[in-house]
Amino acid sequence: MGQWDILEQRERDERAARARRIAEDFEARGTVSAVAVTWVDNSGITRVKGVPVARLERAAAWGVGMSPCFDTFLIDDSSVSAPGAGGPSGDLRLMPDLDRITPLAAQPGWAWAPADRYRQDGAVHPLDARSLARREVERLAADGYAARAAFEVEWCVSQSGGDEFVPACSGPAYSMTRLVEQSDYLTTLIDALRTQGVAVDQVHPEYAAGQYELSVAAEDPVGAADTLVLVRETIRAVSAGFGLRATFSPKVVAGGVGNGGHVHLSLWSADADDQSSNLMAGGDGRHGLTADGEAFAGGVLGHLPALLVLGAPAVASYLRLIPSHWAGAFACWGLENREAALRFVAGSPGDAANAANLEIKCFDLAANPYLLIAALLATGRAGLAASAKLPDPVDVDPATLSAEDVAGRGIKPLPSSLGGAVAAFEADDVLAEAFGTLFVSTVAAVRRGEVALFAGSTPEQIVERTRWKH
Ligand code: GLU
Ligand code: MG
Repeated sequence: MGQWDILEQRERDERAARARRIAEDFEARGTVSAVAVTWVDNSGITRVKGVPVARLERAAAWGVGMSPCFDTFLIDDSSVSAPGAGGPSGDLRLMPDLDRITPLAAQPGWAWAPADRYRQDGAVHPLDARSLARREVERLAADGYAARAAFEVEWCVSQSGGDEFVPACSGPAYSMTRLVEQSDYLTTLIDALRTQGVAVDQVHPEYAAGQYELSVAAEDPVGAADTLVLVRETIRAVSAGFGLRATFSPKVVAGGVGNGGHVHLSLWSADADDQSSNLMAGGDGRHGLTADGEAFAGGVLGHLPALLVLGAPAVASYLRLIPSHWAGAFACWGLENREAALRFVAGSPGDAANAANLEIKCFDLAANPYLLIAALLATGRAGLAASAKLPDPVDVDPATLSAEDVAGRGIKPLPSSLGGAVAAFEADDVLAEAFGTLFVSTVAAVRRGEVALFAGSTPEQIVERTRWKH
C-alpha cells in the first residue's frame, strides 16, 4: 500500500502482528519497558509520546494520540495561528515505524521508533514531514534515481547542569588533548551508537569551545533523517549519564563558531537490475560530475535561499551563517571549499564512485531533517528536469573577494536573516509544488512567529533563549 492511501484493516492487522512479535521479544529479554515514539515539529524540536511495551501492539495498529496543535508550535512552546493548521481540536495518530524500532543503549528500559502522523480516518496527515520526505524519495525513484544522504552532527558539551554554557573540555580545536579530556564519554557514545545499529564514520573535537563532531555513513534519505534523530538523542542521553549537557543549537556562544548540521547528499541511478551507480562521480563534467549529477546539484544550488527556511530555520541560525566561519554563507560551489554553501566532495580517485557527494554546509541542526530532505530532493529533481548547469566553481573564501568579483562570478550571499529566507521560500515555485499551499503557509507562519519572538533581542539574548532547545 502506498503512503497516501487510507490505512486498511489488513495493514493494521499486519502492523499489530509484527508489533506483537517485537513486544514478545522485548519481554523475553526483559530489557525494554517502554517505547519512545517521536516525530519532529516544524521548529525542529523532537516531540514524543511513550508507550509501555504491552501497548505497542495497539499503538502499531491504531497509533498513539497526539494533538495537531504542535504543527504551529515555536521553540518556546508558544504557538502561532495559521489557517488550516494547529489549533486545540482534533487528534492525530503517531504510527511507529516498526522497521526502525531500536532499543536505546544509553536509556536502559527504553526503545525508540520514529513515527508517521496519520489522521483518525487513516489518511496521512497533510502536514506530516516524514511522509513528505518519503513521497519525494518515491518521486525521485519514479524518475529512475535514488539519493543517499547523511547528516553531520556538531554539538557542544557543557559541564554545567545549569543554563549557562561551561565547556566540558579546554584543549585546542581538533586536539588529542580534547579527546583525552572526554575519553570515556566519547567511547561510551561510539559503543552506544554501534549497539543501536548506527554506522559511525568518525568522531573528532571541533573548533568551538566544548565542541565535538560525529559523522555517520550515508543511507537512504528518510533513514538518514531518522538516524539524525537517534544520534542526537543518544548524544543527549550519554552526556546526561556523564553529568554533562549537550547542545545542538546553531550558536552556543554569541561571537563563537556555531554548530552546523551539514547534509551529505549523492544522486544514484536506480537501475532495475540493481546496478546503481553514483552520478556524482565518473562523468565527463568538472571534478568527475555526470550531467545528471551536475543538474541535481544545480537545482539545489539555485534554490538555496529558499531552502534555508528549512535548513536554517531559527533566528539563531543567522548568527551562525556568517562568512569566514566555515558555515557556507555564500551560494556557490567549489571542490572541497569550506566557505561554499555547496562543497563538492570528490573523494580519492580510486574511491570516487563510493565517496563523491555534495556537502551542503549552510544548514544547522535546528532543521527538521525530514522537511529538509523533502525540500532538497524536490529542488534536485527540478534541476534534473531542467538539465541545470553549475556556474564556475569557486576555490577561495568569497568574503575575500571584492563585491564586483563576487557578482561577476555569480556568487550570491545567502539571506542574512530568517525573514529574508522566508521571503525566498514563499516565492519558490518548486517548493510550493512539492510542499503544497498548506505546508508552505504553515512553515512561513511558524518562521514569522519565531522572528517576532526575538524582535529587538541582542545576539546574546537570542543565543541564551535558543541554547537548550534543540
Ligand atoms: N562548525 C562549522 C559550522 O558551523 C563547520 C565546521 C566544519 O567545516 O566542519 O558549520
Ligand atoms: Mg565540522
